[in-house]
Amino acid sequence: MLLIHNGLVITCNEEDDVIEAGAVLMAGDEIKEVGSSEDLLERYPEAERIDAEKNIVMPGLINAHMHLYSTFARGMDLKTDQPPKNFLEILEKLWWRLDNTLSEPEDIYYSALAAILEGIKRGTTTIFDHHASFGLIEGSLDIIKQAVEEAGIRASLCFEASDRQGKDLTQESLEENVRFIEELEAEENNYLSGLFGLHASFTLEDDTLAHIGDILSDLEVPCHLHVAEGRADVRDSKKRGYKNIVERLDKYGIWQPGTLAVHGVHLTEEEYELLAARDCHLVHNPQSNMSNAVGAADLPKARDKGLGIVLGTDGYTTDMFASLQVASILSAHQAGDPRVGGEIAQKMLFSANPELASKTFAKKLGSLEEGAGADVIIVDYQGPTPITEDNYYGHILMGLTGDKVITTIAQGEVLLKNREVKVLDDEKFTAKCKQQARKFWRKF
Ligand SMILES: [Zn+2]
Repeated sequence: MLLIHNGLVITCNEEDDVIEAGAVLMAGDEIKEVGSSEDLLERYPEAERIDAEKNIVMPGLINAHMHLYSTFARGMDLKTDQPPKNFLEILEKLWWRLDNTLSEPEDIYYSALAAILEGIKRGTTTIFDHHASFGLIEGSLDIIKQAVEEAGIRASLCFEASDRQGKDLTQESLEENVRFIEELEAEENNYLSGLFGLHASFTLEDDTLAHIGDILSDLEVPCHLHVAEGRADVRDSKKRGYKNIVERLDKYGIWQPGTLAVHGVHLTEEEYELLAARDCHLVHNPQSNMSNAVGAADLPKARDKGLGIVLGTDGYTTDMFASLQVASILSAHQAGDPRVGGEIAQKMLFSANPELASKTFAKKLGSLEEGAGADVIIVDYQGPTPITEDNYYGHILMGLTGDKVITTIAQGEVLLKNREVKVLDDEKFTAKCKQQARKFWRKF
């Protein structure tokens, strides 16, 4: 058993309990008890201890949309004298070229593990990844799976199927999803899950969507795809004779319950409504939207239509605290109303993401309570003002950052302790990762 004691425990449970001088007891991959330090120390003298030194103890964070494959883009020369001037050019000059260049198993492995490790250092214990590597499709999800297992987090994986590289590779990308989902089903673990990945409506032909629809009616798994991130996606569906994107994809049965509809920047109220009726989630990625200058989804409108909204990073950052902060201020800024944003952002990260993850991994996550998954972080923060059940969110929003995370535990295993990575030799790994990145950059 593992006992974190002497912490200010923010449980994020239904009662929003905050426990001063609190403790969390874990047994195996589950939380066994949450309570006062004094009591748990006395009753469980044999448990291995971690002293939180009065810092914040809270649930591990959940990232609802990530691209682990994007790691090597950091600092990379695009080798063009015409930098991309709009979203489509960003895809063509950066991301589609990058994922085409991911052609060695090591490219995928180091990209994934580096981003996972950075996430662990910033308190992320669950990731919904959306993978692309058209340079190496078959088996690519197994390589990421290996990285996930070595790091010890939970992850939902998929390959973004697309027609953008020709029909042969479309077929391969569909098969990679099916293969991975079916193989996982046989494994029955509570830390890995497979979704059916699609890139976006505008890079998928009607016949491919029909084929995917057939596959989905057999598999019955949710999808994970970009929707209306840029205006080009909207124009494409109209050009093909559809009323809008959501209607087009609905025709082919893509909106399976639980599907992650990422971005939704240019969706109409009617489309939000249909996504809500299909029990899908809208995934908001504020920094990515701002960086690509595509606009941002109208979250209050989506919420009012009954659509669940979760929070991701789209590979822009591995820091969910940063994503939370930007989500909050972007919504207020966009609405021209300082009242908008706070509650929506809080709900995304601390209610909707945990609900999504709990359902995906068949384990209560995002809450420190008996029976929940033992995914816990300690954050170096004591705060200049009192922290209570009524105001703890204000402290998280204004005072916490990923770089303040000291210790990260997932499934009861200590992945990071006192800022030191415990699952592998971080220095060695980083050196090898840089070496692989250099090699990759030469190919790009
Ligand atoms: Zn994305």
